[in-house]
Amino acid sequence: MSDTSRKVAVVTGGSRGIGKGCVLALAHQGYDVVFSYVSNQAAALDVENAVKSLGREAAGIQSDVSDPNAAQSLVDESMNRFGRVDVLVNNAGITRDTLMMRMKDEDWQRVIDTNLSGAFYMLRAASKVMMKQRSGSIVNITSISGIYGNPGQANYSASKAGMIGLTKSAAKELASRNITVNAVAPGFITTDMTEGFDGEKIAEHIPLKRLGTPEDIAHAVVFLVTSGNYITGQVLQVDGGLVL
Ligand code: NAP
Repeated sequence: MSDTSRKVAVVTGGSRGIGKGCVLALAHQGYDVVFSYVSNQAAALDVENAVKSLGREAAGIQSDVSDPNAAQSLVDESMNRFGRVDVLVNNAGITRDTLMMRMKDEDWQRVIDTNLSGAFYMLRAASKVMMKQRSGSIVNITSISGIYGNPGQANYSASKAGMIGLTKSAAKELASRNITVNAVAPGFITTDMTEGFDGEKIAEHIPLKRLGTPEDIAHAVVFLVTSGNYITGQVLQVDGGLVL
């Protein structure tokens, strides 16, 4: 029997940016957190320590979401350490932006493999556990690019649009087991991914006149997993009012 007094979240790509924001916000809400990263071990250790200083347990695990076996192992690791998976945040994502005519096969494939296939592998592994628990909440971090498209991002917006279809199908498939599946679609958020963007210029086109923060996205994720019991299959745009 799993310890139902414990709440456990798995976050992919939790070492930096939006994923880190989600890990810390969930720890504030009383979750123990297992999170993945690929290369930045020092950043992952910092996040682990930050969670521990909030009085929760954390495990940062090097695990590439685009590898189905690694995705399964991440869920297995959460089960071995904590015995449950209550929340999955599919956050890990990359860009390889360029115009289509210049886009190499590997730029297309790497983005699809990480953003879309990675989310599927994690969702498949975590939902098996959640189905047995008869409860769970999954949030997929998509993007406004996946709703409206964006020049130079054919690979990225296709992967993010795919995540929206995945969200809606999974929501219908898992609802009878009391598992919700939703997506959060951020606009422009200040992280390493948007480093080099002209923030001031972009902010002029955003009704709320600023770029978002990782915490802005984490608040939406926390809302969905803590108060969204009757919300499933939805895409919540968190973009300061921006429409591409
Ligand atoms: P980021 O700052 O670049 O951080 C990416 C995180 O994902 C890092 O923790 C990285 O680990 C991890 N990661 C990358 N590839 C991975 C893989 N194959 N397996 C496991 N982890 C992997 O990105 P971000 O801006 O926070 O973006 C997070 C999510 O939000 C992405 O899905 C992105 O598409 C989405 N999003 C971002 C924005 C934005 O404006 N920033 C807007 C819309 C949507 P390492 O530290 O080891 O590299």
